[in-house]
Amino acid sequence: MDDRSRRDAGPGKAISRAKGAPTRREGRLTIQTVAGDADGAERMRSLASVRRAREREREKRKGSGQEQARVAREVVIPDVITVSELANRMAVRGVEIIKFLMRQGVMLKINDVIDNDTAELVATEFGHTVRRVSEADVEEGFIKAEDVDDHLLPRPPVVTVMGHVDHGKTSLLDALRSSDVVSGEHGGITQHIGAYQVRLPDGQAVTFLDTPGHAAFSAMRMRGANVTDIVVLVVAADDGVMPQTIEAINHAKAAGAPIIVAINKIDKPGADPTRVINELLQHEIVVESLGGDTQAIQVSAKEKLGLDDLIEGILLQAEVLDLKANPDRTADGMVIEAKLDRGRGAVSTVLVKRGTLKRGDIVVAGDTFGRVRALLNERGEQLDSAGPSVPVEILGLDGTPSPGEPFAVVENEARARELTDYRVRVKREKTGSPMQGASLADMMARLADKKVSELPLIIKADVQGSAEAIVGSLDKLAHEEVRARIILSGAGAISESDVMLAKGANSPILGFNVRASKQAQALAEREGVEIRYYAIIYDLIDDIKGVLSGMLAPIQRETFLGNAEVLQAFDISKIGRVAGCRVVEGVVRKGARVRIIRQDIVVLELGTLQTLKRFKDEVNEVPSGQECGMAFQGFQDIKAGDTIECFTLEEVRRSL
Ligand code: GDP
Repeated sequence: MDDRSRRDAGPGKAISRAKGAPTRREGRLTIQTVAGDADGAERMRSLASVRRAREREREKRKGSGQEQARVAREVVIPDVITVSELANRMAVRGVEIIKFLMRQGVMLKINDVIDNDTAELVATEFGHTVRRVSEADVEEGFIKAEDVDDHLLPRPPVVTVMGHVDHGKTSLLDALRSSDVVSGEHGGITQHIGAYQVRLPDGQAVTFLDTPGHAAFSAMRMRGANVTDIVVLVVAADDGVMPQTIEAINHAKAAGAPIIVAINKIDKPGADPTRVINELLQHEIVVESLGGDTQAIQVSAKEKLGLDDLIEGILLQAEVLDLKANPDRTADGMVIEAKLDRGRGAVSTVLVKRGTLKRGDIVVAGDTFGRVRALLNERGEQLDSAGPSVPVEILGLDGTPSPGEPFAVVENEARARELTDYRVRVKREKTGSPMQGASLADMMARLADKKVSELPLIIKADVQGSAEAIVGSLDKLAHEEVRARIILSGAGAISESDVMLAKGANSPILGFNVRASKQAQALAEREGVEIRYYAIIYDLIDDIKGVLSGMLAPIQRETFLGNAEVLQAFDISKIGRVAGCRVVEGVVRKGARVRIIRQDIVVLELGTLQTLKRFKDEVNEVPSGQECGMAFQGFQDIKAGDTIECFTLEEVRRSL
């Protein structure tokens, strides 16, 4: 009471009073003062407050040095960092970081790794600035900046042929191949290397990507590889615009590539080019004859009609696009195809975009690298170099890069190794190594993942493309509890090292259109590694689906049987406590599971009901309305009024 009057008395008075020794505490409205025990206030200082004060004192003493050290500093944070290293860089004790993280609900030990986001959070919370460096920095400068204008020279256009199935893409590509002027002299294009160049009498050339099918086109685009300058859209004159024609139009538009329409099969009696032109209008393709800017050229792949016009049209379009590249620089470009050849090792077809690729260059493509041992064109001829827009097969890479992967020449082997090592690491992490940093999200995921079982697999296929397709399909099978984990996937025969890897990872090897070498086979038999062969992707997927389904833990389904009410409980020597019950609902059954419920709360769940008696006899089942006796082993606390719920549990198998 006087507390208040003191405060109301105004500042001057308060100060004068403060001089007269009484503590600040006295002025406070506390329980003690209200209770009239103002004097006791000092004595009542809680243990906790003393402890806090001591803590502060200690911190101050110890911290006087640290206080200075805790000036804001720039902390360099890599992709992942251990708690102790972060503490080091922040010049604090590791415990402080651990404490801080604990307050955020993350339990970590001093040697655990955290990811850069978490580390940044910690560092900024402690008042430091952060400079993030990333391992990914090694990627910098892999594909160098655009060239300045004055070095640029015209380059041949790169053309992709698309269209509906059976409209004649393959036939047209074949026909165009034969219009190559050089083929007469050198026996023509002998090899399928995924791309070829048609050279014209006047020295010009057109590069065709020989990968019909939109899937390949969009797969390349997905990797950001837009190599196609011009799309030739094949439409059969007797069939008109079909679903895949529309799909092709959309792909071309998305890629920003101009379209040239090749109206094919004009030799056929039912051919109606005008219809095709009109149908295309509906898809915003306006041909020149209707005042638009899309060329439409009538051809027959079978009769080899109009092919020159088509090439002419392509060159015209190329001129409009003003395609240029600098040939005098280190080369880069894109992987079109890669395969493992029995005699030659890894063979990759690449398309040079800029610069000139030479024999002896060190090339990095995806996570593979190597010195170019040989350059071969589509005629199987050895080349010394390949300039812009030239497709070549290169030998010498140490693996098969994926189609669409950019490649570039690097200055030396060390740089190549650095890049590929990093990429391999990233890939491995993506496929799920156990330790992936410890961001909060990751931790959550891992906690939630606890029950996930993984099926490790090694996949070898004839070509990289099939391996990727298989991995893609397997990924789609992933369920929240089971999934396939691809340890390795690639093209080529199953080797001894694959078997060793499989042994280590405890995984089977799936071979798609490939076989194991003799040594690998023997090793697999010795080591007990299973190798399964497939020729149809669907079979493979089906098989794995079966295995994964088998790995799904069965769910337990509960079926309610009945309820009994405890009327009375009594002790019987030898048996223990027994409940006299009446079944009020359903039945109770011996051997079924029971739960004891008291006031709607489950107090106990028992394995099985072992003692069920009616009068003096053991019975198996007691129906509703009748009375019975039950005993629960190990539970002596049964009371009148408890409810006994009786149910069965059934295991149900699940499938994906
Ligand atoms: P794709 O599925 O688009 O690659 O089509 P193909 O090139 O395999 O051709 C499908 C069918 O059309 C084949 O039977 C070819 O012989 C036929 N064909 C392709 N071009 C022409 C043509 O110009 N005239 C005629 N009459 N038939 C053609």
